[in-house]
Amino acid sequence: MSFSYLTHLECPKCHEEYSPDEVQQLCHCGSPLLVRYNLEEAKANFTKETLASRENSLWRYHEVLPVKNPGNVVTLGEGMTPFVQMEKLGQHIDVPNLFIKDEGIIPTGSFKTRGASVGISKAKEIGVKQLAMPTNGNAGAAWALYSARAGIKATIVMPVDAPTITRKEVAVSGGDLHLVNGLISDAGKIVGQLVKEQGIYDASTLKEPYRIEGKKTMGYEILEQMNWEVPDVILYPTGGGVGLIGIYKAILELRELGWIKDDKLPRLVAVQAEGCAPIVKAWEEGKTESEFWENSETSAFGINVPKALGDFLVLEGIYATNGCAIAVSENDITAAQKEIARFEGNFICPEGAATFAAARILREKDWIKADETVICLNTGAGIKYPETVDIENLPLLQPGEAIKN
Ligand SMILES: *Cc1c(COP(=O)(O)O)cnc(C)c1O
Ligand SMILES: [Zn+2]
Repeated sequence: MSFSYLTHLECPKCHEEYSPDEVQQLCHCGSPLLVRYNLEEAKANFTKETLASRENSLWRYHEVLPVKNPGNVVTLGEGMTPFVQMEKLGQHIDVPNLFIKDEGIIPTGSFKTRGASVGISKAKEIGVKQLAMPTNGNAGAAWALYSARAGIKATIVMPVDAPTITRKEVAVSGGDLHLVNGLISDAGKIVGQLVKEQGIYDASTLKEPYRIEGKKTMGYEILEQMNWEVPDVILYPTGGGVGLIGIYKAILELRELGWIKDDKLPRLVAVQAEGCAPIVKAWEEGKTESEFWENSETSAFGINVPKALGDFLVLEGIYATNGCAIAVSENDITAAQKEIARFEGNFICPEGAATFAAARILREKDWIKADETVICLNTGAGIKYPETVDIENLPLLQPGEAIKN
């Protein structure tokens, strides 16, 4: 019985295989690498029943995670986030079986923590001492904090207008923080230069193979929380697309493990903002790769990614599940954010709100049917984005003064 049934890394493009016992970044063909396990062997010991008594974190699925030695696990107890029905909102938008998978309730306040926990644990296992990454904020925050916990030095480069709180999270962790007067793609070029010159571990999205493994646990959890009934639709706010790639990978692995029936896949929906929708454009044109989106802009900072390295994997997940890609407006995002707080008492991030806005539109188009089970991914806490809520001039009471209506 193994802690992990990890076997190797595989290129989804040219199928070259690599060892997971040393540092690997991209395949020599330029594609991200995927992590493979011996699921046949895992099946014998790793059963649904074994999960019942396990810790309430993503590490409950350690057999299908890439860390071989439990001593290398770097965790703050992340995972097994709430899975909650949104009854009132569901009635309002005529999707009665509407659920939220709520990643606002997790250390560092965004689901980036999943990728950081698994990615940093594996980095520690293969002896990484220093890493660098570009970020739109949340990933940098999570990776800097988990790096601190692991004793790894982290260099983080983020756009100057990324959410202030994420800058502070990096700063408080003691990470080496740099701001760039530009987009995440500009930050990426700066990191690329540093990595090339100094041979530091490149922790950019999909340039290290393990964060997908952390993010795929959202798929495992959704299925476990649904008692292994496959939902009809999962909507995901798509930037780099790692979460969507991960959820799709989880579904395929769960099939292979025999934990879910293999006659149904959830339709995966990539939700983007109108100001940055390269995946939507590619999907609408029936393409298998996206093009760089010029002058991208959206308040949903985590999904402001003009060109994703794993775009072909995202599109594959959409096509293979009969899903779709859809862009929503800034107004739709803000309106959805308010509506969710007012109907459901949950202050979610703009990226998460975009998925609810998309669910409403897809229901109106009848792409989602009224009897379908629909899951919206909220990828972070609304309280990380205080600037998204405007408060008008409030009256200031003096002590003892009465409230007049
Ligand atoms: C990074 C991020 C996303 C996009 O995640 P990907 O998996 O890279 O597409 C969505 N929402 C939030 C809050 C994020 O921080
Ligand atoms: Zn390759």
